[in-house]
Amino acid sequence: MKVLVVSDIHGNLTALETVLQDAGQFDVVWCLGDLVGYGPDPNECVERVRALPGLQCVLGNHDAAALKQINLSAFNPEARKSLVWLIGRLSAESRAFLDSLPERLEVGEVTLVHGSPRRPVWEYILDNLTATANFKAFSTPYCFVGHTHLPVEYHLNKGQRLAMTAYVEAGSVLELQPRVIINPGSVGQPRDRDPRASYALFNAETRTWDQRRVEYDIASVQERMRTYNLPQRHIDRLEGGW
Ligand code: ZN
Repeated sequence: MKVLVVSDIHGNLTALETVLQDAGQFDVVWCLGDLVGYGPDPNECVERVRALPGLQCVLGNHDAAALKQINLSAFNPEARKSLVWLIGRLSAESRAFLDSLPERLEVGEVTLVHGSPRRPVWEYILDNLTATANFKAFSTPYCFVGHTHLPVEYHLNKGQRLAMTAYVEAGSVLELQPRVIINPGSVGQPRDRDPRASYALFNAETRTWDQRRVEYDIASVQERMRTYNLPQRHIDRLEGGW
């Protein structure tokens, strides 16, 4: 079974369509949350994702914020401005779909969460200590996460005390050994200074992870964001990949 693994689409339909084209053949789609937030196409992205084959999808922190499950004062002024726009823009159908998403899923050998298995919606795994603690919070061989927008892998080999971190280069094909926490990076707002959309193809039989990057038409997304008067910083960061 060939799995398309996407995360942090963030209302960027152009990036999403480009990824779906670039991925070629896949059987099912696993989505690690944050379908909305920042980008200009929240309803379009929800509609596109929910129609994908064999979809398994978990809730992200921006999805939760769009449902007003989180106090908006937890966000900085720009993020808040963007969220207020999003809440006004989101259709009843989109809201109902986001509201149906679980925080955590187990599919075969893999646990799916947005942030971390310990705190599925909110925790960022950004260092070896946090990763190490999180290996206790899931029991499958693998855990796929998003949230940091960085294509990074954490592995904890037998007998090891501390999990180790490795950046996953575009074009690398990893044979995942138990146990691994891995992040495909972000489709709609990469933050590793590489503005190309980031995603992965996971082969559930051979347990291989194929890390991909693809260029998309960033200018057209920025244009739509300007039309909606979304924050300039969010417009600028797309082309810098931060
Ligand atoms: Zn995100």
